[in-house]
Amino acid sequence: MRIYMDKPVVEMDGDEMARIMWHLVKEKLILPYVELKTEYYDLHVKVRDETNDEVTVRAGEAVKKHGVGVKCATITPDAERVKEYNLKKAWRSPNATLREMLDGTLFRAPIILSNVIPAVRFWKKPIVVARHAFGDIYSGIGISVEEAGDVEVVFRSSSGKETRVRLARVEGRGVVQAYYNLDSSIRSFAKATFGYAIANGLDVWFAAKDTISKVYDARFKEIFQEVYEENREEMERRGLKYEYFLIDDAYARVVRSEGGFVWAAKNFDGDVLSDFVSSAFSGSIALMSSELYSPHGYYLSEAAHGTVRRHYYRWLKGEKTSSNPTGTIYAWTRGLRERGRRDGNADLVRFAEKLEEAVKHTIEVERIMTQDVARVAEPPINAIVTTEEFVEAVRRSLEKLLNKP
Ligand code: NAP
Ligand code: MG
Repeated sequence: MRIYMDKPVVEMDGDEMARIMWHLVKEKLILPYVELKTEYYDLHVKVRDETNDEVTVRAGEAVKKHGVGVKCATITPDAERVKEYNLKKAWRSPNATLREMLDGTLFRAPIILSNVIPAVRFWKKPIVVARHAFGDIYSGIGISVEEAGDVEVVFRSSSGKETRVRLARVEGRGVVQAYYNLDSSIRSFAKATFGYAIANGLDVWFAAKDTISKVYDARFKEIFQEVYEENREEMERRGLKYEYFLIDDAYARVVRSEGGFVWAAKNFDGDVLSDFVSSAFSGSIALMSSELYSPHGYYLSEAAHGTVRRHYYRWLKGEKTSSNPTGTIYAWTRGLRERGRRDGNADLVRFAEKLEEAVKHTIEVERIMTQDVARVAEPPINAIVTTEEFVEAVRRSLEKLLNKP
């Protein structure tokens, strides 16, 4: 008997190889076991183009309504893609649109396998990087100055007050940069971080450089402390800690730690750190889960990788590819697990967990894996398989696990 769902998840379809894997996983690993209820939005780049990107906004509204969404990787068009798909324009990143609508923070966690040894040998538990995806240098400005002069920063409030601060006297050619952030955004980020940590039983690290950046980074530190105080009771009840570190200290500590925490990072730190942590953990971007939490209770899961364009071109020519569907499977399992938790649907939660176990069993015990994992796995390796073969192997593992009493 298939598992019943009370409420739908919002399903966002995507592009290229990720789309092929999305449907394969849904058809072979979800539909046979779950009476899947989804509200479907097709975010294929042509559909976004035809609807002037309205479809992305409608999908975001649907997540606000139903609470839980699952998303396939999508093309963020650039000039080359505009030509390739004959688009009206280079539409903005659907992920950016959704993140903005949901006021969400992205949490990226490694999928840990016993036969894929991290480059840092102390790491035993996940290190989840939470990146504050708003402001700082990503919405800053730069000016290049050509001659000697004075650099000042001016703030003119809406009520007409003016604050003027002198930055420097420059004596020749140089560059200047200015950027900002908002309390509301920092607070949302901190709330999402503590919410995620509590839901997943993880400590929280936040690191910045408030000894040098006495106003800017100090404000981040202050807000994190405030939000921690709001969550302190709950954290303590679960035996979870919050620690603030100076950013250089945090980098030194992370390589000596055994993991098991969420590292909340400012925008630039998170950009660098998430790539560093993922490659140090496993060396394959397909072995990562990616979840978006918002302080308003909206949730979205996806794979951490993109549409795997190079594999898609080979697939189009009829060649077999060994693209790894693990990230896609986890996008589904995390979304279904979240749905199950919210609706008190224990069967659905259990199914999601079994499916993740089946993936691990296939790689760790059966030692069947796709090319990207074979490159980083410890021997022995029994088979390096195509995407379809891997999905079949996971299905066999799942059947075994489900039939175990
Ligand atoms: P990508 O999809 O992340 O793939 C880059 C490379 O990583 C692949 O060529 C492949 O390496 C490896 N790889 C990624 N996923 C894999 C998987 N599941 N199995 C095996 N190998 C995997 O990045 P891209 O191909 O450069 O980007 C294509 C499109 O994705 C872009 O249009 C971009 O806008 C979009 N994108 C979307 C999202 C999102 O929706 N969340 C995120 C990032 C990028 P080898 O070729 O060496 O095997
Ligand atoms: Mg990056």
